[in-house]
Order: sequence, then structure tokens, then C-alpha cells
Amino acid sequence: MMKVSKLGEFGLIDLLAKMIADAKVDRLAPDQPLIGIGDDAAVWRTDGSLELATVDTMMQDVHFSLDTITWQELVWKALAINLSDIAAMGGVPEYALVALALPEDTKVVYITELYEGMIALAKQSRTAIVGGNISRAPMVSVTITVIGKSLSQDILRRSAARPGDVIAVTGYPGSAAAGLEMLTKELKFKPEVTEYLKSAFLHPVPRLAEGQMLVKHGIKAAIDISDGLIADLRHICEASKVSARIDVEKLPVHPLVKGSFGEKARGLALSGGEDYELLFTGPSDAINRVKAELKCPVTLIGEITAGAPGKIELIDASGKAIKVNKTGWQHF
Ligand SMILES: [Mg+2]
Repeated sequence: MMKVSKLGEFGLIDLLAKMIADAKVDRLAPDQPLIGIGDDAAVWRTDGSLELATVDTMMQDVHFSLDTITWQELVWKALAINLSDIAAMGGVPEYALVALALPEDTKVVYITELYEGMIALAKQSRTAIVGGNISRAPMVSVTITVIGKSLSQDILRRSAARPGDVIAVTGYPGSAAAGLEMLTKELKFKPEVTEYLKSAFLHPVPRLAEGQMLVKHGIKAAIDISDGLIADLRHICEASKVSARIDVEKLPVHPLVKGSFGEKARGLALSGGEDYELLFTGPSDAINRVKAELKCPVTLIGEITAGAPGKIELIDASGKAIKVNKTGWQHF
């Protein structure tokens, strides 16, 4: 019998989504929901506005190690990655439900630390913590559900990219993956580099204001970078049935990542996950308005093209195609 590992995460999601659709339990009414399985958050219409919902789990020894993360950092990240999915829809968070699983010998002070981290981000993002669940378990996990809403009738979605759209990204993708590598391989850098990389991996700041600003400027397509820039761009291209071309020379690699990882930095920017930056596409005039208004870095990195759904082409400065594999860069 086939194992989950063979099917893969996305294969499994497709299988389960089909079961739910075939059983006709994927909606309450023919026009509901507006967006179901397959985007950053689910979206449905209520009287007057759009409601958003998302859920994410952080599992010990899968998503984090208690050797390299504090309890405060753990819960900050667990809430931040959910808020990031709301940001990727251009929404506003409202309510959070928190389910904790803990070994019974966990010290209570760790859990109060955990909640201090959550309270800090809940305050900052104006999210109300309204419930949850606690269960005994052999390992620690934190599962958070966030409910939110849209500020207008418009939201950002994965399926709205069109050929001719410019592709842009906030911040410096690859920084979180560089931080993970530093922590797991115990790499030693100067204090300012260590601080930047650690923060990039452990303390992502959800781009909520930025997501709302994208909607305001008429951007329609976005995703947050959780799986890696190429992988998440592919999610957009598959949902939108388009291809994309990325100009790798334009990738915004942070100088501290470039300085400490050298040639490897660009690979981290393309494939490293967990940055929780926003990747979005739109007409160049709208993208330029967004770039002018947002305080965070916004970099134009490529273009959406008509072609096979989900195909991503990487080109160098001279326009030549580049192939990327696990060990490095290869022209063909
Ligand atoms: Mg997401």
C-alpha cells in the first residue's frame, strides 16, 4: 500500500480535496465558499464582507527543535505563520484558537513563556485569542487557527496571475533558510550576522499591512513564501494556469546572507522556505505604485508568461536559461 511519503504533501492534499468534493461536503451552497482548499486561506462571503480562515501546525522535531528555539520564539512563529496566510489574502486577522499538545513533564514556566510570546504578537497584530485546546502528547506541537476578514470585496488569490504581469517580492527571501542552516550546522558568524539570520528564521514578521496595501492598489495575485520562492511561485502558476520567468540576477539577496553564504546565497533565495515574505504579481503600473508606497523592500524579479501551467524558467543577466539542482547552478 502506498505510503504518505511517496504521495507527498501536495499529492495528499489533492487526494483529500477530491474526496471532500466528491462527497459534496466542500460547500454549504453552490456559491460557497468563494475559495476552498488550495489557497493560503479559505474565504467565504458573509453579510457585507469576506471571512477568512487558516490553520497551521508547528510540530517538534519536524518544524522546530527545542535545542534551537525558545518557547517564546516557538509560539511567535506559530502565530506569525498563520497571520502570514491572512496577509497573503490581503486580509485583517480577528480571532485565534490555539491547540497545544505537551508531554506531561513540561514545566509550567515554559508554557507561560509560550503565552508571553503569543500575547506580544496578538497585541501587535490586534488578534483576539478566543479559545483552544490542550492535550497530552509525546512531543510538543502548537496548532493555531486564525479567523479574519477582508477590508473590501477584494482579496489576493493564487489563481489571479495573468501573462504580462510583473512578479515582485517583499524583503529578502533565503534569509530564513540561511538562519536555519546556521542553527542546525552551528555555523559561527559575526554577532550582527548571527542576529539577523536567527531573527529571519525564528522571528518572521507577517506582512499584514503590506498585504492590505496590495489589495488597495489593485493587485489580485499573491502568496506568502513558506515553501520557497520557486515552489510558491509554482503554486501561483498552477492555480493561474500560467508560466513564469525569473531573472535570477534580480533576486534580492540580503548582503549579510551573501557575505556569509557566498555562491550558495542565491540558491537559498530561490529554494529556501519559511521567509513569510509576500510574492505577488500584477500590471507593472500597479506594482510600481506598491513599490513606491511600501516601506519594506519590494523587488521586481520577473514576469508571468503564457505557457504550460506551473512552468518556471530561470534566466541569467544575458537572458540564457539556468538550471538549478540541489548541488548548485548549472547552465544548459
Ligand atoms: Mg501560505
